[in-house]
Amino acid sequence: MPEGDTIYGAARRIRAALVGKEIASIETHRRFARDRWPERLGGRGVRSVDSKGKHLFIRFEGDLTLHSHLRMNGWWGVYERGRRWGKSPGRAWLVIRTADHEVVQFGGPVLELMTDSRSRFDHRIARLGPDILDDEFDDAAFLRRLREDDQSRGIGDALLDQRNLCGIGNLWKAEACFLAGVDPWRPLSATSDAEALAAVHAVRPLMLRSGQGGGHVRDNRVFDRAGRPCARCGTIIRARGQGDDNRTTYWCPTCQA
Ligand SMILES: [Zn+2]
Repeated sequence: MPEGDTIYGAARRIRAALVGKEIASIETHRRFARDRWPERLGGRGVRSVDSKGKHLFIRFEGDLTLHSHLRMNGWWGVYERGRRWGKSPGRAWLVIRTADHEVVQFGGPVLELMTDSRSRFDHRIARLGPDILDDEFDDAAFLRRLREDDQSRGIGDALLDQRNLCGIGNLWKAEACFLAGVDPWRPLSATSDAEALAAVHAVRPLMLRSGQGGGHVRDNRVFDRAGRPCARCGTIIRARGQGDDNRTTYWCPTCQA
């Protein structure tokens, strides 16, 4: 599942391919035929491309913004013209071409055209917490939202809630708790502000590096390592479903006591 760093990296690559470039064509899958995007976006340039958490926005001239959220199966590809795509063309929802590049969105449940103002006030976006990949992460806003949350909730589960902060997914949640030495099951009431911030600050640079490298630089210490010895202390890494969505969390019971 793409996490914030993957979307951040995709936004960087799409920005480089589209902003300031003449758009040669826009094609959509037949499921979007009635939306008439090629007609509505024809002749407009791309002003900017940005991401917030796992949401990505391509902002066109004339107050129109394409909003996408990839969930489990979506993907953004940026290809030089003439290069083979990494996925089946039948799954392409959207293709934006310039003289040099093809920007392709494959699958994903949310792909919609909206006005700029709706893209800021839409409830799915407006309720997001501070973005871990923002140029300056807002510690105070994060802590405020964390303390307004249910304090019996485990810190691991709370870090996944995009209303507390956005961009962290299941992998980075597990790594954040490990690097901060915090048990993901510890309730918020027993987790200090300093510990919560330590978890976020531990993975933020790793996520930024991953996003700047294209989303593939990963050196997981506990995620997906259940049953194997902890690289730091040798204790066997544990795994168990956590939270309402029962997402598997991984932790070292010694390093994260
Ligand atoms: Zn350990």
